[in-house]
Amino acid sequence: MLPSVDEMLRSPTGREIGAAAGETHAAVLLRDILNALRAEIAAEVRQNASREELTAAAEQRLAAKWRHELRHASTRVINATGVVIHTNLGRAPLSEGAREAMMAASGYCNLEYDLDTASRGRRGGSAEDLVCELTGAEAAVIVNNCAAAAYFVLSALASGCEVIVSRGELVEIGGDFRVPDVLARSGAELREVGTTNRTKLADYEKAIGDATRMILRVHPSNYRIVGFTAMPELSELAKLARKHDVISFEDIGSGALIDLSEFGLTNEPVVRRSIEAGVDIVAFSGDKLLGGPQAGIIAGKPELIQKLRKHPLYRALRVDKVVYATLEATLRAYRRGATDEIPVIRMLSMSRDEIRERAEGLITAIGESDLKLELTDGVSAVGGGAAPDASLETTLIAVSHPTLSAERIEYSLRNAEVPVVARIVDDRVMIDLRTVEVNDESQLASALAQTVG
Ligand SMILES: *Cc1c(COP(=O)(O)O)cnc(C)c1O
Repeated sequence: MLPSVDEMLRSPTGREIGAAAGETHAAVLLRDILNALRAEIAAEVRQNASREELTAAAEQRLAAKWRHELRHASTRVINATGVVIHTNLGRAPLSEGAREAMMAASGYCNLEYDLDTASRGRRGGSAEDLVCELTGAEAAVIVNNCAAAAYFVLSALASGCEVIVSRGELVEIGGDFRVPDVLARSGAELREVGTTNRTKLADYEKAIGDATRMILRVHPSNYRIVGFTAMPELSELAKLARKHDVISFEDIGSGALIDLSEFGLTNEPVVRRSIEAGVDIVAFSGDKLLGGPQAGIIAGKPELIQKLRKHPLYRALRVDKVVYATLEATLRAYRRGATDEIPVIRMLSMSRDEIRERAEGLITAIGESDLKLELTDGVSAVGGGAAPDASLETTLIAVSHPTLSAERIEYSLRNAEVPVVARIVDDRVMIDLRTVEVNDESQLASALAQTVG
């Protein structure tokens, strides 16, 4: 009674999905579907089904399986969570300029070609120069992400030697990035000093010996030690390192290029200040507070950067042309002072009232609906391992319905044509427009309208 895979591939749905997925893949899906139907017939779940009914059931399942696969392919989503640097949602959304640069570089480009001399050029040269200009560093090199940067610096410059770290900085940043583990993997030897809450300059100095190669400072990112604490100034550490002829290295992590304290991020280290404090090398992410593509930026003393560039690991960790192009475009926006073009900075800078105004506009645009849309005060999060103590005041749209549960509404938003990711608080779905691009508001409105059918 069952149609064959070949017959199914010639059905309207089979032809359509065969064209979209490739016939071989459609046949794989169909084999599973027909096997399941065969098992159902054997189990007498479908004993009286006609051939037409079975064909229709197989077509329906094929379409459903294909829809499911498409949903798991990379796809854009609307971030209504209010978490600006949402690692699960791709961290920093790129600026328009960065997106255009990405397109332009995606074909052939002058990645390692000097158009003036028609000869080999410096890979990533322009992005590195911009990093130097914006941070005051003398040299820079760019790798895959900040985890790679930290590992690279430690392996290339301190393998087989001791690296001094305060016990207060032996942290886990998340996603398996643990400072002691990275150090161990790099071949460097961890030399812990001080205590969890207090480490003094003298603790570092006492630990310096013949085997010492580096003093490492790690920005604890998503973690704070408060109360009875002590930590030497970065400039003191850098000075101590120079005095003893060892390298000072700061893993800054989020790496703000500008001071973000006016937006409530008072504890975020600014890269330029670390360089000015005299640190030999700093490392920071491209897709956290900088607001660019995933990258690990290493900046500092030319002789050390040169060593990294010549190290065999560099080849394994270097980035792609599209990353350089998007990073350059993002950094050029900083240089022009056009930080409002960078979505992360724009989102961080939005006030509660500005967000309230947008929320009111959106509710008016949705108009009559069975959904109950109420405005309520709340807080957005920076995310991306930045500033756990920063609170960004926001206005939330609380969505509820007389009969539909919050879970049902959230599910429906998540399954919209452009999926909307939102959170549930106290049985209401919360929409935070801080992280929703203005251009996406109409999509969000239609996703909301569709939740009630
Ligand atoms: C986030 C972070 C990292 C890892 O950066 P990725 O770019 O995610 O690899 C490393 N160190 C610190 C201090 C961080 O905050």
